[in-house]
Amino acid sequence: MEFHNVKLLPRGLPEIIAQLAPYDIYPDTKVIACPRKEPHGDRGEVYYDGANYRVKIFPDAYLAIFGLHPLDGTLSFALWSSFLKTALHELGHLATRPIWLDMRSDYLPYPHWYVEEAAERWAGQAMARILSVDPRLGQPPGFITGYAGIKAYEWLNSWPDFKKLEEFRGLRCGGQVTIGVVASQAISHLLGPTWEMEDKSRARLERIARDQVHRAANNLGIQRYAFSANGRRYLMFNVGEAEAVYKWLVANKSVLVDAYRMLTLQQQQPVEPSNGNW
Ligand SMILES: [Zn+2]
Repeated sequence: MEFHNVKLLPRGLPEIIAQLAPYDIYPDTKVIACPRKEPHGDRGEVYYDGANYRVKIFPDAYLAIFGLHPLDGTLSFALWSSFLKTALHELGHLATRPIWLDMRSDYLPYPHWYVEEAAERWAGQAMARILSVDPRLGQPPGFITGYAGIKAYEWLNSWPDFKKLEEFRGLRCGGQVTIGVVASQAISHLLGPTWEMEDKSRARLERIARDQVHRAANNLGIQRYAFSANGRRYLMFNVGEAEAVYKWLVANKSVLVDAYRMLTLQQQQPVEPSNGNW
């Protein structure tokens, strides 16, 4: 396997790519980190050039950083997981290549979405495999490196304060997600993605969820605290620990579900009698 320019990618990523590339085409695979002048949305691509399989990953800082969902976790974890997802998706195409190699023949047995879905499914399984051996999902400790990493820290001043604090707390204690993220994810895990509530009740439910996450962490022995200068401590999690918390909460969900029911009931206004006094 050949690597080109991979110093532009976060440290740790090329090793994962090397480990997960399909064995039979390993010697014919080239991995290229490829800066582009004008990014056009895709974060990676893969193709066969007649002799080699080429996996290209675009280390575009702007796309990588500003395309992030603010709730994904610390800045460095969000960047890491975004590059990891891209790399695994492209490797997924290699692993399921009989499908797309077929597509180059005269008849097209598979539509485009089928090829993408096969790659995505493979990537999801690979992600689960990585998580089962490494609760940090392969992210090396410390600052995120590579071109996007350098840019991210350069641009840190333009980020909201809470994102900056989150990043530095995460670096201090090895945390990847904050308790706030875990609590709001826990609510969606337990109540399904469609739960709805007005802001006041929602804030109360989030406080209850936070308490429950603390309880789960105590029960599971998770004590990943970042301490601030004034001595306050902030509970954080790596991805594996967050997953363990979700599992614990599913098994002990009654408090949160009851709170949700109660708050929903309170939300319903009493109905005024419509014709006169009785
Ligand atoms: Zn694809």
